[in-house]
Amino acid sequence: MSVTHQTSMVSCIFSPKETPDQVSLFPSMNRSPRFSLHSDGHIHTKFCHHARGEMEEYILSAIAAGLKEIIFLEHMEAGVHYFEKTWLTEDDFDLYFLEGKQLQEKYQQDIHVALGVEVGYSPTHKKELLERLKKRKWDRIGVSYHFMIHPRGEYHLNLVSRKKRSIRAIEDVGCKQVLENYFTTLTEAVEILPGTVLCHLDAALRFQPDVIINEDYLEQIRKLLQAVNFKCHSFFLNGPGFTIRDVPFNAFFILKEAIALNIPLLPGSDAHRPEDVGRHFDKLAEFTQGACS
Ligand SMILES: [Zn+2]
Ligand SMILES: [Zn+2]
Repeated sequence: MSVTHQTSMVSCIFSPKETPDQVSLFPSMNRSPRFSLHSDGHIHTKFCHHARGEMEEYILSAIAAGLKEIIFLEHMEAGVHYFEKTWLTEDDFDLYFLEGKQLQEKYQQDIHVALGVEVGYSPTHKKELLERLKKRKWDRIGVSYHFMIHPRGEYHLNLVSRKKRSIRAIEDVGCKQVLENYFTTLTEAVEILPGTVLCHLDAALRFQPDVIINEDYLEQIRKLLQAVNFKCHSFFLNGPGFTIRDVPFNAFFILKEAIALNIPLLPGSDAHRPEDVGRHFDKLAEFTQGACS
């Protein structure tokens, strides 16, 4: 089987024809950003070992929220040394596809269900990741970078964990050093992986007290966005930031940069619980509107 670069039916905000599903935020602008608020493009499942709820419960939650599309995007990682497993094995992915395909059929009259992957990049295991990605037909490939090898090479730092031991380990290395590595490596990930959407640009170190990704990192963020633009990726506008810090990921200045480059935006909840499907989508539209003005 080959890797597909298929995008979902409502994934591009600059699609030539506006459908009723797409919200045009600025009808007066020539290239009005639009995205569908009827599609949640970033959903996890119990298979990743840190989300809860059956796939079917996420689908029912999406239907109840009035969504027309739900895209599961499950965690793939390679070569990570960490005290717990927060990703799927290949056997887990087999089960994920088996169950996902059955549910696609069961709910085809109610909602479009798609099966994708959120690949966590690893500079030392890129060959393995590329081979595993090639083995299956994904509806969407999202690119992330969650685990950074500790400078002493002993184990990995989880850059998006809320656990105290992870937060302390990052502090010991130095938040600035970690963030610089994050942006550089994520840019490499976008260049190397066959993805179609960047999952989290500024979610790294989100639970680190006192760390704010601000314009000090603008040059690195610009390089990353240029790589996203060059690969014709889209860019997730993530709801969870509203829960964690009362703003979405991505931050306002990053969103402005992305919009200036005409990078398509996709709403995604990054739900790890069925009740979080479609969360904060109303705020995302409002926030994006602000970033365009
Ligand atoms: Zn996760
Ligand atoms: Zn995710």
